[in-house]
Amino acid sequence: MAIERTLSIIKPDATRRNLTGKINAKFEDAGLRIVAQKRMKLSIEQAQQFYAVHSARPFFGELTEFMASGPVVVQVLEGEGAVLKNREVMGATNPKDAAPGTIRAEFAESVGENSVHGSDAPETAAQEIAFFFAGTELVG
Ligand code: GDP
Repeated sequence: MAIERTLSIIKPDATRRNLTGKINAKFEDAGLRIVAQKRMKLSIEQAQQFYAVHSARPFFGELTEFMASGPVVVQVLEGEGAVLKNREVMGATNPKDAAPGTIRAEFAESVGENSVHGSDAPETAAQEIAFFFAGTELVG
């Protein structure tokens, strides 16, 4: 399988509970390499722009307010089949459906406050990485 890169975000519910290191250990244990990472506070406009694909969904307001409510850690993960592998490590969107051992099963508080974001396909990964990082910030 090809080496890929995917965008990950550790969400405000997880940074608030000081879980960055525990979540990063899950990525690294799965063979994903963190090749870029920064902690930042999104503005509401940045959150709305990032999640524009969900703008018609009923939870859009809740989602974007949550994402701007506290620090996030945006990161680029690299590895074989990184997009899919990261989705496996994250677990299902709703923690009630997430497989044991996944990040969301262990750490998520609810379907909305579910600790991590991960790109859903290589094309969206490229767009989402470019949203947050310049090429020079990615060091593999
Ligand atoms: P993901 O790819 O697993 O993150 O899931 P989606 O792309 O379907 O949804 C994006 C994000 O929107 C999720 O990670 C949640 O934070 C949020 N979300 C999804 N469904 C709901 C919902 O029913 N209620 C709320 N409040 N947030 C939701």
